[in-house]
Amino acid sequence: MNRTPLSRRRNLGIIAHIDAGKTTLTERLLWKAGAIHRMGEVHDGAATTDYSEIERARGITIGAAAVNLDWAGHRLTLIDTPGHIDFAIEVERSLRVLDGAVAVFCAVAGVQPQSEAVWRQASRNGVPLVAFVNKMDRTGADFDRVVAQIRERLGARAWPLGRPLGAEGQLYGWVDFVGRRVVSWTDEGTVVRGWNADDERAHAALRDALVASVAEHDDALAEAFLRDAEVDAAQLSAALRRATLAGAGVPLVAGSAFKTKGMELVLDAIVDYLPSPQDRPAVQADGDAGSVTLPPDTDGPLAALVFKVEQQEHGPLAFVRVYSGRLRVGDTVWASHRERSVRIGRLLSIQADRGSDLPQAEAGDIVAVAGWKDAAGGETLSAPARPLRLEAITVQPPVLSWRLTAKAGDLLRLGQALAVLAQEDPSFHAGSDADTGESLIWGMGELHLEVKVERLRNDWGLDVSAGAPRVAYQERPRRAVHGVEGKLDKQNGGAGHFARVHLNLVPREDDAIVFADCTRGGVVPAAFVAAVEKGVRAALAEGPQGFPVVGVEVTLVDGQTHAVDSTDQAFQRAAAQAVRAALGEAGTGLLEPVMAVDVDTPTGYLGDVLGDLQRRGGRVGGIGERDGNSEVQARAPLARLSGYTTALRSLTQGRASATMRFDGYETAVA
Ligand code: GDP
Repeated sequence: MNRTPLSRRRNLGIIAHIDAGKTTLTERLLWKAGAIHRMGEVHDGAATTDYSEIERARGITIGAAAVNLDWAGHRLTLIDTPGHIDFAIEVERSLRVLDGAVAVFCAVAGVQPQSEAVWRQASRNGVPLVAFVNKMDRTGADFDRVVAQIRERLGARAWPLGRPLGAEGQLYGWVDFVGRRVVSWTDEGTVVRGWNADDERAHAALRDALVASVAEHDDALAEAFLRDAEVDAAQLSAALRRATLAGAGVPLVAGSAFKTKGMELVLDAIVDYLPSPQDRPAVQADGDAGSVTLPPDTDGPLAALVFKVEQQEHGPLAFVRVYSGRLRVGDTVWASHRERSVRIGRLLSIQADRGSDLPQAEAGDIVAVAGWKDAAGGETLSAPARPLRLEAITVQPPVLSWRLTAKAGDLLRLGQALAVLAQEDPSFHAGSDADTGESLIWGMGELHLEVKVERLRNDWGLDVSAGAPRVAYQERPRRAVHGVEGKLDKQNGGAGHFARVHLNLVPREDDAIVFADCTRGGVVPAAFVAAVEKGVRAALAEGPQGFPVVGVEVTLVDGQTHAVDSTDQAFQRAAAQAVRAALGEAGTGLLEPVMAVDVDTPTGYLGDVLGDLQRRGGRVGGIGERDGNSEVQARAPLARLSGYTTALRSLTQGRASATMRFDGYETAVA
């Protein structure tokens, strides 16, 4: 395979509010770049057949975690980013592996709360962006308003690279300020011409404004401007690239994905202004000899991150970004989480509606590993001789659980399906109730679990129903207790069991569970210390109120063994007994998960929305007002939010929408 040099690679995501047109844009970009084959054209040749054949390919390509296309001598890899904030972990995970992103806005709806949330997540991660104002063909489309909103609401420096010509039904082209060109979308295709004197008169002032704004962030452009008062396309484009990569602003183009207008503007903007892997900061990884900095160097040590596992008919596909070194078919590599080695059987690059085999992948590449049965998201792959661990993606503990019931004959398949779902998504867990044997699932919120149940029904044809939700409370010890004894002494003939331990139990500020041994001189042999830790952790899994205990440090301070009768089991049990006694003495406080709730409602319903939130124990942090809509930011206990989105819909005739995300644990109010 002819490799595209690293400088011509773009690993990017498309981020958008639901419905802004991410799926449509992805399809049209693939089609424009020729990555989706135009099977229909031979027969009918009509423009509409483009769409039907895009539809045919969409099931395979659009859902893929990473798909490649080529444009202007560059290789673009589109990485799928989830649109909904309930899947924050997935957004975070995909932002880690992409180098830049296209933010899509609807020309009618403008900047919506969810696009705002994802935008901020991207800026926090230092991901350079270009923006596409989509749906310029729709009634009410307003390019200038969206530009103003990006400036005001997102606080971003928006750099329109031109202006749309016409709007709504009459959208027909784009004036390009950078290249002083006029692009017209006609039935015969795209026609481009240079500016004439009229164009110069009409648009020169806007071009100057763009140059002046970029020059504030780029010395080379500022100097050229002062010297010649004239800046050519190459100078402006190069300065825009430097300033965008530095995070100073966001270049912006517009069009209509649905009408396939402006797709070349988006592709050009990606190539011209989004970073290559070389333009991004080197990544950090932990190794045996401490932390190392890894630039995207093919000759460096192997470090690759599994960022998504997708189930295919023939088994899982693990999508991997290689940050440093090379990954070859036949290699045996070290997987950091499972702490074992894995043989790389097959490497695939996802082109369009199919994958093609690769002999190897190098720093900067995004590929899929096939045939790795127990692949899991978040793993670092490295050379067995030089194990490395890329900075872990923080996974929040699941906060809500549902009980699932299925037909008796389906139980085996349900178990298999749940295992697959849990493998794909580290914020989703599945298990069974030890007492009843029923299946339990845990996730980050109602919507998160709803989506999983839908998949059990649709993808596996399982007839499952979900029982009442159960909130994942936690317990925290109220105070410190010292020297609590746990003792097991069964020595009534035959093999005995003897162990005695003394423990301190001290609350911590954070949520960690820490165990320490400060006994001296082998009072408790190392093997039994390990047994004590096991017993301590087992006892902390269920506190006096029936929930896991967090935020605690347990220290083994003394112990006693018996030459013959001491066993692992005895120490485990003695330790568990001591922890239970200590927790009983200290007492525990109950913590509950709290959600951040953002509601977008027509202002006419604001009173009802606020009243309802208050009844649910919600606290309102702020209310914003825009275009007749109110945006409420609140926090509320998850336990009280059951069925919230449905209730909100009926409260507001379906006109309000809400997003929720886990926002930490707080002391539960009884
Ligand atoms: P996603 O949720 O962001 O993936 O959005 P989709 O791509 O599924 O689009 C949402 C809806 O908007 C669909 O009905 C699309 O047909 C429509 N849509 C997408 N792009 C455009 C556009 O440029 N113009 C118009 N008029 N409709 C669009």
